[in-house]
Amino acid sequence: MIGVGQAAKRLGVILVFALVVVAAANLRAEQRPAAAHNTVSPDSCPRSTFRVVVDVGHTLDVPGALSARGVPEYAFNLQLARDAAQALRDAGFEQTALLITGTAPRRGLVERAVRANNMRANLFIAIHHDSVPDNLKQDWGYAGLKNQFNDDYPGYALFISNDNADPAASLQFGSALGHELESRGLRYTPHYTLALMGHRRRILVDAKNGVYRYDQLIVLRQTKMPAVLLEAGSIVNRQEELELGTVERRSLTSAAIVAAVEQFCAARSRPASTRAAAASAH
Ligand SMILES: [Zn+2]
Repeated sequence: MIGVGQAAKRLGVILVFALVVVAAANLRAEQRPAAAHNTVSPDSCPRSTFRVVVDVGHTLDVPGALSARGVPEYAFNLQLARDAAQALRDAGFEQTALLITGTAPRRGLVERAVRANNMRANLFIAIHHDSVPDNLKQDWGYAGLKNQFNDDYPGYALFISNDNADPAASLQFGSALGHELESRGLRYTPHYTLALMGHRRRILVDAKNGVYRYDQLIVLRQTKMPAVLLEAGSIVNRQEELELGTVERRSLTSAAIVAAVEQFCAARSRPASTRAAAASAH
């Protein structure tokens, strides 16, 4: 049960998110200047036609996990996804689409995949922020409210599905993104391999870059293009929640996404013979 003051506070938070969503919709409608990346060489990425779909995880009404300070995950997802999509457009990926879904799961999850498929996206990136199972949370008071936290498992995590239309390419992009995040000083969380995660336990398929397998995820298995889900960090971790709320952390993650997309796009644009040679060289 929540008190009137708490309810009013939550409502205020929800209204702020509603305004952010309206602002995001307006932003999408604006014409953006085309960036100057049109070099045509056999080995370069055709940025102006390579379409990335950046999916904002969860919905305004069903907003995902609650942070240690009581902010819904959706707010974090929307901010980071907007920044990442803008960074991609600024890098010349003009076709980048920010996917905001109002339909609740499960229908909403299927809808995301259908929309990405209809857009003929080249790459799908779902943006989320992590929490832990309820039994791993502890109580604490914040701003006069009873909240829950877990400080044990900071860090990002990446997920791919072997049921995706192109699991090899999904892993290729996931590994590239993990590498770019690591090279910017971020670390992935290894806790998904632990027994205490129960049915949320996952197989770590790239132990260097933090990519796990999560075959059942609808947005990854029903998309017809390579697809990756990024948990950008833990919002139930009291320290990391603060970092994830800063422009600096979002810029860091966005820059990693752009660098990984650039590499992935260039690799996909290479003639098949060159790609095979590069693969066998590893
Ligand atoms: Zn989520």
